[in-house]
Amino acid sequence: MQLIRNWSVKHSRGLEYIYLLFEPVLIRLHKVWNVIGYERLEKPVRVIEKSIKGLMFDCQMCGQCALSSSGMSCSMNCPKSLRNGPCGGVRMDGTCEVKPEMRCVWVEAWKGAQQMSQCEKMKEIQQPVNYSFKGSSSWLRVVQDDVKNKQEMPDDVRIKR
Ligand code: SF4
Repeated sequence: MQLIRNWSVKHSRGLEYIYLLFEPVLIRLHKVWNVIGYERLEKPVRVIEKSIKGLMFDCQMCGQCALSSSGMSCSMNCPKSLRNGPCGGVRMDGTCEVKPEMRCVWVEAWKGAQQMSQCEKMKEIQQPVNYSFKGSSSWLRVVQDDVKNKQEMPDDVRIKR
C-alpha cells in the first residue's frame, strides 16, 4: 500500500536501526536454524517475512533484499525492476514515466537514504536481480551468505558485520 510505503521511507532511519539489531541476532542463531534445517524453515520464515515486508514495503519477495541500499524503498516496485536507479525517465515532478500516478521508487530511495547512517550504500552498484531466488526468504539467505563468507574467506579479509 502506497501510504505505508511512504511512511517506511519517511522512517528509514528507525527501520534501519531495527534491522541492524535484528540481523546479528538472526546470524547468531545459525546453529539453531541448522539443527531445525533451513529447508524446513524456509516456508514459515517466508510467510512471516512476506507478511511484515509486504505490508511495510510492498515487498515482492525477490529473495535478495536491497532495502538497506535503497533508503527502505523497495526497488522491485520499479516497473522496470531496476536495481540501480533511477532511469532517465523520471518526470519533472518526481513521478514514474511508466506509472505516472506513482512517485519514482528511486527518487524515494534517495530521500530515504539521506536519513540513514549507511547512506553511502546507496552509491554502491547492486547486482542484477537473480530471478532464481524469487519467492524465497532473504532473511535466511543473509544468514547462509554470512556463514559461507566466514567459511570461505581467510580471517583477515572477512567482511565485518
Ligand atoms: S528488495 Fe526484494 S526482499 Fe527486499 S523488500 Fe524488495 S522485493 Fe522484498
